[in-house]
Amino acid sequence: MHGIHHEFTNRELLKGLQSEEQLRGLEELLDFEIDRFSRLELFKGKRRLDFGSVPGKVEFASLFDEVRSEVDVFMGVSGIQAPNVNYYNKVPGQVFHNAVAASLFLTGLYDYALKLVLLNSDSLDSFLSRQFVNVMMMATGFFYFYKYHSRGFYWQPPADYTYSPRFEVVNAPKDRRANLLPLAGHEYTHHVQKKLGLVSYEGNEGMGAFMEGTAIGVQRHLSEWYAEKHGNESYLYIVVKESTYNLSRAYNWLCQALGREPKKSLSLTDELPGRRTEYHAFGDSFFYLLEKRRGKGVYAEMFASLTAPDQG
Ligand SMILES: [Zn+2]
Repeated sequence: MHGIHHEFTNRELLKGLQSEEQLRGLEELLDFEIDRFSRLELFKGKRRLDFGSVPGKVEFASLFDEVRSEVDVFMGVSGIQAPNVNYYNKVPGQVFHNAVAASLFLTGLYDYALKLVLLNSDSLDSFLSRQFVNVMMMATGFFYFYKYHSRGFYWQPPADYTYSPRFEVVNAPKDRRANLLPLAGHEYTHHVQKKLGLVSYEGNEGMGAFMEGTAIGVQRHLSEWYAEKHGNESYLYIVVKESTYNLSRAYNWLCQALGREPKKSLSLTDELPGRRTEYHAFGDSFFYLLEKRRGKGVYAEMFASLTAPDQG
């Protein structure tokens, strides 16, 4: 199998981050990234960033082909079979869930009201037994609705970029192209990883930090590649924003691990946006630092080492 895997497990990557040298590198990198992000955020506030339109389905498919070939070159892989790519189709889900909740509640309420009118006032006992089902229906409908909307009230379920290794499908929300293309490239990278045999994600021996760190390296490359190609910095925005959060999160953790007081200006938040995890934070920090020291070629080197035959 792939003899190099043990160097890039979650445990080894975390160990690799825990040094004074890495802390100094991280401070410098985070400072740089916060600067870039504040500048982009300022431009965005002044409406000087043009994120472009949401590509239609057909256009997205052809743009995704372009993303794939750039990622293949960047990672030095070839012959990777294309995954399926989809926009989330949010409508059926949201209609279904809200309809189930509403019909439970309304049927219960309707029957309740009907019985209330028709009921001859015999006893409380019979009132309760006749209305029990209706009350339960209303309660179930209410809780169904509450549960479905409990992460904030929305008519559309939250959608994030995902890759399903099982079905080999990349799912993307209908997003404007400056966000869509780098982030779809991130999910495509997970597809390449799967095709190269990387499947174990969590735990000490898992490769989650490696998988996210390299996928974020790819998304950063794509964002810079598109920004230059179109002379449009909006391609950088979402990627710089994510890395700013990731590096800051790892910085707080590393300061704690080394018993240092974090600098206020670098210690932004412990929150990560969306479904981002510690694997994103640590992986991004590890590989971004490596990239700064050794150049963008490190990603292709990593993937080459994964596909190399076992040396024993
Ligand atoms: Zn990912």
